[in-house]
Amino acid sequence: MRILGYLALRYRKWLCKYFPKVALKVYSKHKGECNNCGDCCRTKEWNCEYLKDNKCTNYKDRPLSCKVGPFPFDLWFNEKYKNCSIYYFQKPKPHKK
Ligand code: SF4
Ligand code: SF4
Repeated sequence: MRILGYLALRYRKWLCKYFPKVALKVYSKHKGECNNCGDCCRTKEWNCEYLKDNKCTNYKDRPLSCKVGPFPFDLWFNEKYKNCSIYYFQKPKPHKK
């Protein structure tokens, strides 16, 4: 699954770079509210240097791939998105500790 999580992230970044309108269209279908858990900013593939105390210190200038994430593939394949409250098709069940 780890490789799929990596590929999901690469795919999102690739789409944002070359087809930003499509990326925005995908994200327009998302549901739920971000709970600022910070999981998307510290995946195994991407431990972002801008994340400090669970807050983005580059929020205003964060790249499109941050703004539109996560995509369904991220949620399905990246095991790090445990606390994410964004969903596309089915509301996530509360994470068991
Ligand atoms: S730039 Fe901000 S939103 Fe993007 S991964 Fe880093 S901390 Fe998260
Ligand atoms: S993982 Fe989901 S809920 Fe958590 S900060 Fe990222 S988008 Fe928001």
